[in-house]
Amino acid sequence: MLTVPISVSVTAIDTLLPQTQCQRCGYADCHAYAEAMHVGEAEINRCPPGGDATRVALAALLARKVIALAEDVDAYAPEHVAFIDEGACIGCAACLPVCPTDAIVGASKRMHTVIASDCTGCELCIIACPVDCISLEPVATTANRVHVTLDDREPQATILRQQYQAHKARFAERADAKAEAHAPQVSPDKKTLLADILARAKARS
Ligand code: SF4
Ligand code: SF4
Ligand code: SF4
Repeated sequence: MLTVPISVSVTAIDTLLPQTQCQRCGYADCHAYAEAMHVGEAEINRCPPGGDATRVALAALLARKVIALAEDVDAYAPEHVAFIDEGACIGCAACLPVCPTDAIVGASKRMHTVIASDCTGCELCIIACPVDCISLEPVATTANRVHVTLDDREPQATILRQQYQAHKARFAERADAKAEAHAPQVSPDKKTLLADILARAKARS
């Protein structure tokens, strides 16, 4: 178990992460990785999109030494965006729920396309696509541009965090609506039925 200064909050750690939500650290999102660092479960070197600036800032916050990027995390291609081969897309919509910024547009059974300016190049859609019709192209956008300092990166991280929170809220709402639509209908009990019949009879008289 790694030591963590008692005064450091999960939010303070999360603030230093780039909010790319790419899962390369091995956690579900940036906040989950921040929580793992907060309980001393994870090292500070698991975020490829964060670059050197993130590891230096995390080391300072958590009173640790700066260490090299962990060897078991996958590489991240900075300043790339996803492109969909629209001729090959089968419109399965599997890429929509995994995109942290909702950068993909398209309806079920229709061709899908990527809004490049919202794409971080996280590659989660590439993993989700069953027909391999998504690839990365080198394009720098406001969502994926590399910033050397955390101060410079802060506006980008703030927008990415907001987009991800909106994405999670939207998909949670859809899941709730789906669960409600499939919930078994509860039949009124006999007492309620009788009261209803009596009330209607009274209203008619
Ligand atoms: S951006 Fe970094 S902290 Fe966030 S999910 Fe990706 S690897 Fe993890
Ligand atoms: S379109 Fe694909 S690569 Fe771009 S942000 Fe969404 S999931 Fe990530
Ligand atoms: S996952 Fe692939 S095939 Fe399915 S809608 Fe997205 S791009 Fe098209």
